[in-house]
Amino acid sequence: MRLFEKIRKWFGNQEHLFYLFLVVLTVPNVALCFTEPMSWMAKVCNVLLPFSVYYVVMSRVRNCGWGFWMLFPVVFLGAFQLVLLYLFGRSIIAVDMFLNLVTTNSSEAFELLDNLVPALVFVTVLYVPALVFATFSIAYKRRLGVKFVHAARRRAWIALAVGVCSLLAAYGGDRRYELKADLYPANVCYNIYLAFQRTACTRNYPLTSAGFTYRAESSRQADGKEVYVMVIGETSRACNWSLYGYPRQTTPGLSRCEGLVAFPYVLSESNTTHKSVPMLLSPVSAGDYDSLYYRKSIVTAFKEAGFHTAFFSNQRYNHSFIDFFGMEADVCRFIKEESPVSGGNPSDAELLKLVADVLKDGNEKQFIVLHLYGSHFNYRERYPLGQAVYLPDTPADAEAKYKNSLVNAYDNTIWFTDRFLSELAGMLKMHGGDAAMLYTSDHGEDIFDDGRLLFLHASPVPSYYQIHVPFLVWLSEDYRRNHPAIWQAVQDNRLKNVSSSASFFHTMLGVGGIGTPYRNDSLSVAGNLFRERRRVYLNDHNEARTLDDVGMQEEDFEMLQRHGIGCWP
Ligand SMILES: [Zn+2]
Repeated sequence: MRLFEKIRKWFGNQEHLFYLFLVVLTVPNVALCFTEPMSWMAKVCNVLLPFSVYYVVMSRVRNCGWGFWMLFPVVFLGAFQLVLLYLFGRSIIAVDMFLNLVTTNSSEAFELLDNLVPALVFVTVLYVPALVFATFSIAYKRRLGVKFVHAARRRAWIALAVGVCSLLAAYGGDRRYELKADLYPANVCYNIYLAFQRTACTRNYPLTSAGFTYRAESSRQADGKEVYVMVIGETSRACNWSLYGYPRQTTPGLSRCEGLVAFPYVLSESNTTHKSVPMLLSPVSAGDYDSLYYRKSIVTAFKEAGFHTAFFSNQRYNHSFIDFFGMEADVCRFIKEESPVSGGNPSDAELLKLVADVLKDGNEKQFIVLHLYGSHFNYRERYPLGQAVYLPDTPADAEAKYKNSLVNAYDNTIWFTDRFLSELAGMLKMHGGDAAMLYTSDHGEDIFDDGRLLFLHASPVPSYYQIHVPFLVWLSEDYRRNHPAIWQAVQDNRLKNVSSSASFFHTMLGVGGIGTPYRNDSLSVAGNLFRERRRVYLNDHNEARTLDDVGMQEEDFEMLQRHGIGCWP
């Protein structure tokens, strides 16, 4: 009883609460010092400056409960931030995390909710009692002593002055230091601002892109039969393809496919669907990502050049660029949205039926974009269970202890994608004429591969496994005969370092013989002007950064090296 009385008394003391609240508010800042790669001075500033600002705010009021509640937005962001640190192990709350709530079907962001229980318990224990004490303090009209408040104000201003000095020192000590990126919670507030700004730009897209034209023309004969198919895979990583040396046979169909060239050294410039796919479908890449708001997709380029166009997707609407680009086509279907049952899960194979129907229409010039659901978690739902090649494929829960069955299930999805692509190439071959199929995946996936125990994709900092993607060019026999220079160039470029985000679009234009001022042949692997470039990645602020600058780690660079992938050719 006496202990309880002591505790009650301690928490009843307003001065104790004042300092307790300050400590609670600063916890995320301290945590970020351990997770973020920052200079020593930047870490000091990341704690000292926000602490001093909270100190100043808290010391302005006589009731510390009010002071704490006034800083509730900081508490709210802090809780969110700590949960994300637990989930990803690092990084502040990204713009993409806010946007994922309104754009991508949010399953991508919240697949791991079940695993968050310990983090949710921690933030509840940290913040809820503090908020309760603050509420009691207000309800009982408790007051801090005048003397204490005066002294606190004096100390707070001194702390603020030291905090500002540490900020100047952080700028002085690291030329890459930026307040908007490195000082919590200013960086998260900036990200919220960016999220609003991007949402507004996306909303205005129909207006800002309305007058856009590729001024595209075909350089091919008007009466020849041509079919080009651009396939965008989902979550397929190159290192699980036997075509790229994976010891398990996961791509038996494509290995036998004549006219196929598989590029082994290809990286994506983004690990999220909603950013990667628009780059694959447009001339936009990490270096000029924000020009996306003024551009249309490759569908419009082919349309302007006289092609009939079709866009078939096995994904849900993302209320952003993938939908806008799809809608440019003469025929546009999102089969998952058409599913009669909610949560319906059509197989990618359904898309082949749509392709067969379009081919039956007999358009002389046909361009098709397919957006697969490929290897997206939950893997076991991506292939017919009766046809699983690698077993056991259960349990398939998102836990490291199930890695073996998760990898089995994942390999089955690759095997299924292989069958899909082989059948598609077979259909195009049967159709005859100039035909080509290009395939790449939007990004890869982590499957508890190393000691970091990373899983899924779209994490704030990409891993090797999330960005090494397959990239295929298949040309029909007629095409190879009619365009030997292109066939030769594709083979000559095979072992070069390629960015899928930068090259998929230009390669498709090159293969399709589409001329436009937006075509850049130094990015097309279908011509002999192709040039390797420095690797970049699209960061959360939509800037192109080198792989070490975005925070990729030693484990990732080791894997890149092991797979012979150059970062700075
Ligand atoms: Zn994706």
